[in-house]
Amino acid sequence: MRVARPPALLPGCLHPCATISLMGVVLTLKGVEKAYGLNGQRVEAVCGIDLEVAAGEFLAIMGPSGCGKSTLLHLMGGMDRPDRGEIWLDELPLHRLPEEQLIRVRRRSIGFVFQFFYLLPTMTVQENVELPLLLAGIQDGGPRVRRLLERVGLAHRLDAFPTTLSGGEMQRAALARALVQRPRLVIADEPTGNLDSENGRRVLALLQSLAEEHGSAVIMATHSNEAAVVASRVLHMKDGLLSP
Ligand code: ADP
Repeated sequence: MRVARPPALLPGCLHPCATISLMGVVLTLKGVEKAYGLNGQRVEAVCGIDLEVAAGEFLAIMGPSGCGKSTLLHLMGGMDRPDRGEIWLDELPLHRLPEEQLIRVRRRSIGFVFQFFYLLPTMTVQENVELPLLLAGIQDGGPRVRRLLERVGLAHRLDAFPTTLSGGEMQRAALARALVQRPRLVIADEPTGNLDSENGRRVLALLQSLAEEHGSAVIMATHSNEAAVVASRVLHMKDGLLSP
């Protein structure tokens, strides 16, 4: 289902968190809200967020634990639905796509990188990275996978199993898996949270350059000032709201 883009916001109406340019916008959030019911209490995790993220942008979202970063990333990545508001990935309304279509969009157009890597332990590095291609019905992705693994410095580890890799190697394999489909959007939740600073810097540099090469938008939640330095824009999250 292709649906018309949401009407462009007038520049004078832009929220402070919106990008200045409306060209090449990958992700648009309008009035996004999400609350949880917990033990009879209501927790408002995301409280009305407007945002635009452009192709090639590397956006870091910083904030203390519990401020709503993971909830927001889940909404942006189509892993959860907002209670209110709209989330558009290019011309696709993620907030109201049927579940099956949402799964296809996630597989094809969104790459995820997490703090705990989530590589499948029974598959080799090469098989882990090739899996998204196979799920998308692409059978001849071997050369692309090997080129990408070479690019992230894992050409010598193609046949290794994840448990034999260092943390930095695991995250670089996970990065290759997230980017192998050249996704429009990359969602990274604390991607350097389990790495020492040298490996963290290497992963961030790769994330930045590969995303640039592929023209993806990257949105990263992080606690780390060092990680945020590589971003082209930093927003701060507090009590479910973003501010510059
Ligand atoms: P962060 O990623 O910044 O730590 P989260 O998005 O995980 O923040 O959480 C935001 C708020 O929502 C917190 O108060 C958290 O306890 C609450 N929360 C998150 N997930 C759930 C859930 N599944 N059920 C109930 N409350 C939740």
